[in-house]
Amino acid sequence: MTRYKGSCFCGAVEIEANGTPEAMGYCHCNSCRSWSAAPVNAFTLWKPENVTVTKGAEFVGHFAKTKMSDRQYCTRCGGHLMTNHAPLGLVDIYAATLPSLKFSPGVHVNYAETVLPMKDGLPKLKDFPAELGGSGVAVPE
Ligand SMILES: [Zn+2]
Ligand SMILES: [Zn+2]
Repeated sequence: MTRYKGSCFCGAVEIEANGTPEAMGYCHCNSCRSWSAAPVNAFTLWKPENVTVTKGAEFVGHFAKTKMSDRQYCTRCGGHLMTNHAPLGLVDIYAATLPSLKFSPGVHVNYAETVLPMKDGLPKLKDFPAELGGSGVAVPE
């Protein structure tokens, strides 16, 4: 099985993702922008059983503004690690946290909230796919 290693900014926390992500893409929502301090969040979604904290679990901090997103970060350096979307059964590991994974985005979500339009020809969803509880509505680039 393919393993992808990642760590926080200081290296106190190490994580590992196994196999292949369920989906990859970009989220343009206000929450992602605010949390990441970046114009978009490049996400990779994994089944929770394929994600493990291999070092420094005691440094993993959690912040859940809503039940949908348990945001996890390193309490030493503040570096972001991943967001557990428990109701969806998916964990978002930020693409930048897994440098050995080839990032192959397939979709843009929450594009209605974008501050950085990206004309890359990929599908743009107004919010989330219907199978994840969204409208599934596509919007122009
Ligand atoms: Zn750290
Ligand atoms: Zn988002």
